[in-house]
Amino acid sequence: MAEKYDVIVVGMGPSSIFCAYELIKLNKNKKVLLIDQGRRVEDRYCPIEKEKKCVHCKPVCNITNGFSGAGAFSDGKLSLYNEEDDDIYVGGSLHHFIGVPETKKLIDYADEIYLNFGADKKLEGTEYQDEISVISKKAKKEGIQLINIPIRHLGTEKSHEVYGRLEKYIEDNGIETMFNTTVADIVIENGTIKGVKIKDSKYIDDEEHPLETIYADKVVLAIGRKGANWLSDMCSKYNIDTESGIVDIGIRYELPDEIMKEINKYMYEAKFIGRVGPFRDKVRTFCQNPSGFVSAEVYDKGLTLVNGHSYKERKSTNTNLAILVSHNFTHPFNQPIRYGRNVAQNLNDLGAGNIVVQRLGDIYRGKRTWDYELAKNTVVPTLKSAVAGDITFALGYRTMVSILEFIRAIDKVVEGFGNPDNLLYAPEIKFYSNKVKLDNQFETNIKGLYCIGDGCGMTRGLMMASCSGIQMARMLANK
Ligand SMILES: Cc1cc2nc3c(=O)[nH]c(=O)nc-3n(C[C@H](O)[C@H](O)[C@H](O)COP(=O)(O)OP(=O)(O)OC[C@H]3O[C@@H](n4cnc5c(N)ncnc54)[C@H](O)[C@@H]3O)c2cc1C
Repeated sequence: MAEKYDVIVVGMGPSSIFCAYELIKLNKNKKVLLIDQGRRVEDRYCPIEKEKKCVHCKPVCNITNGFSGAGAFSDGKLSLYNEEDDDIYVGGSLHHFIGVPETKKLIDYADEIYLNFGADKKLEGTEYQDEISVISKKAKKEGIQLINIPIRHLGTEKSHEVYGRLEKYIEDNGIETMFNTTVADIVIENGTIKGVKIKDSKYIDDEEHPLETIYADKVVLAIGRKGANWLSDMCSKYNIDTESGIVDIGIRYELPDEIMKEINKYMYEAKFIGRVGPFRDKVRTFCQNPSGFVSAEVYDKGLTLVNGHSYKERKSTNTNLAILVSHNFTHPFNQPIRYGRNVAQNLNDLGAGNIVVQRLGDIYRGKRTWDYELAKNTVVPTLKSAVAGDITFALGYRTMVSILEFIRAIDKVVEGFGNPDNLLYAPEIKFYSNKVKLDNQFETNIKGLYCIGDGCGMTRGLMMASCSGIQMARMLANK
């Protein structure tokens, strides 16, 4: 281990990996160290398949930690862009820093790297352009946009292979890596970063365990969503400037496959986005699962949120998708995560700890849904544990109106989307990391301390996280 590094990158998710790749390419002979609290990619293994339940791996979860970060066990969908788009619709706010044209160039560049390291050449979502443009025109008339982004689909096994090759490439080219090591603190003197304090991950919960200091001129925090709480603590401890983030609150919508037949056939991952209704809040569909199943997932402190999946073998006759409303709060409130948790908690209380389900028609009629009504409903719920009730008791007026207006608008594009028997499950909430305030070089108000990727609220997704790393490297190379 060197006495002092030029650059330490904390985390080894896609943002860090692509930063390291680009630093090698720019050949600036910098001494670079990457640190991650998880394992090497080839040692990462999730026992859930074998054990049929989460065994809470110690010291850290293998799904979210280690080389390739949170994406290691995903089926690796890399979102690209359409030539004609004048905005970036998926993956966060990197383009707010560097502009849309530059972001597109970065996506091309990162995509090329994924291809060189073994990603599949086939692009999904590029057939049926004529059919899609007919639906898109209809949507525009209703004030909503239909987004169909080409996707490069790595697949879970392929993801492991691609990131495995990148791991080897980085280490073979002089970048030092340190696994199973948690960065517990950072070292700041006179407003300037000096290094990080580490410990073996097996002592992660031992607050008294002595820490070792490693020094560096520059520290890049690429800690992902997993490290967002830790980063939030660092921001409070060292007065690192943050800004109010957003929380997306909404429902999981379930309707017959028949209604969604064309959308499901023409598009790999269709997204509708719009600002309909009086509040002009951004509303979007997300995570569409043809012939899928609605699921309940338990998070921190027992909070139960709804989600949706589709399986290769098991099929239902329903499509489910999220409808989410972005909530941006203004002065003096800046606690989006707490707000979202409170909404979710109220809904959980209403459902006695379960997800609440209600028919669309009952909301219009101003009444709750009863079990006996659900039992006779033409749309049969795929989440059997959901409790029939009234979600309007807990979702705010603003959220509810935006969702209903959005459904009304899509119904004019996709006939039957607003069928009264369609089901709304709640709460579906996407919590994002608190945003760290960064300048256009991704530097915080602490000199030499930078942030990239999902953990600081800049990106959401594999491709954009990768791009943020490349951009970081280019800026560091010139410093
Ligand atoms: C199940 C799942 C499926 C997904 N599927 C997709 C998909 O198909 N397409 C898509 O675009 N996105 C997907 N995502 C999201 C995607 O994985 C992330 O957007 C992306 O990995 C973010 O990259 P990152 O580099 O910012 O952080 P991460 O990939 O989260 O990596 C952060 C790393 O930092 C390490 N770390 C954190 N704190 C510390 C610390 N204090 N000390 C040391 N190390 C630390 C962690 O161990 C982790 O390895 C999925 C995520 C999950 C969980």
